[in-house]
Amino acid sequence: MPALGEFDLIRRYFTHSSLSEHVVIGVGDDCAVLKIPAACELAISIDTQVSGVHFHADTDPASIAARTLRCAASDLAAMGAEPLGFTLALTLPSADENWLEKFSQGLLQAAQQLQCPLIGGDTTRGSLCITIQVHGSIPLGKALRRSGAKVGDSVWISGTLGDGAAALALIEKNITVSQDAENYLLQRFYHPDVDFSLGVQLRDMASSCIDVSDGLLADLGHICAASGVGARIALEKLPIAVEWRSSVSEQQAQQWALAGGDDYRLCFTAAPQHTAVLQSLHGVTCIGHIVEGAGILIDAKNGFIHKDDFIHNKGFRHF
Ligand code: ADP
Ligand code: MG
Repeated sequence: MPALGEFDLIRRYFTHSSLSEHVVIGVGDDCAVLKIPAACELAISIDTQVSGVHFHADTDPASIAARTLRCAASDLAAMGAEPLGFTLALTLPSADENWLEKFSQGLLQAAQQLQCPLIGGDTTRGSLCITIQVHGSIPLGKALRRSGAKVGDSVWISGTLGDGAAALALIEKNITVSQDAENYLLQRFYHPDVDFSLGVQLRDMASSCIDVSDGLLADLGHICAASGVGARIALEKLPIAVEWRSSVSEQQAQQWALAGGDDYRLCFTAAPQHTAVLQSLHGVTCIGHIVEGAGILIDAKNGFIHKDDFIHNKGFRHF
């Protein structure tokens, strides 16, 4: 059988139905054309996943696809944007139809779940590498930045922390957990939640926002640096999933929650007047507050305060 040509490959695997009120022209022309909602600005973010660096080459292709799209889309949610569509730059060592079938199915499923259609891309030969650029819309002037945190604001996190690091430990066979915990962690790792509706709700409440991709301390550190403030967080308030937390030592769980990466949760700050509304939202937790100065202080259970200089991202060294 002759090898699949470039255009057949695109037609067969990547001409997803991009039907959406925002897509005027999708895959197949020189450019995709998007209709941006009235009185909105365009938000753009791009993410690359390299085989052997970001994932093992033998990882399930559907999982690679879903994770790449969801990680990119997480940046839209963190800005308070809603998805318009995404482009895909795919570099493949060969036109492996089995791999492509699974990859494109996983991609399509994630695109449908996120309501973020594939609108175009580029296909080349080389070492396996996947780049996704997401496009979203935000009402004029409403983008949630890293730079607006004020002294006295509360610090909040959506969902749970540490799942990404625990999942990586599991994938690398450094921990063993129950079957339920394994299912939970693999789901969280390959299909991280992207909460666009939370980002939208936060447009009028949050003073700053970031998605936690490099670990809470690093990413809250980015908010502090951009805002010219410090933060004080309480160790025992960090939300850690019951599914796995008792599978490791408490110290390990807390370390992953503080400094592990790949959680794709939203970390945001908000003035005290929004506390009641935020507390009524499902799955957001107040973990501390913004203080004068720089860097992050961590209050531990025994009252001991760890002074920190993570602002310069020197790494985690509390335990
Ligand atoms: P051009 O040469 O004009 O840049 P290409 O031949 O690279 O166009 O691509 C043809 C069409 O297929 C374009 O609409 C492009 O967006 C789309 N496309 C190419 N590769 C992909 C891909 N991996 N996923 C989705 N669409 C793709
Ligand atoms: Mg062209």
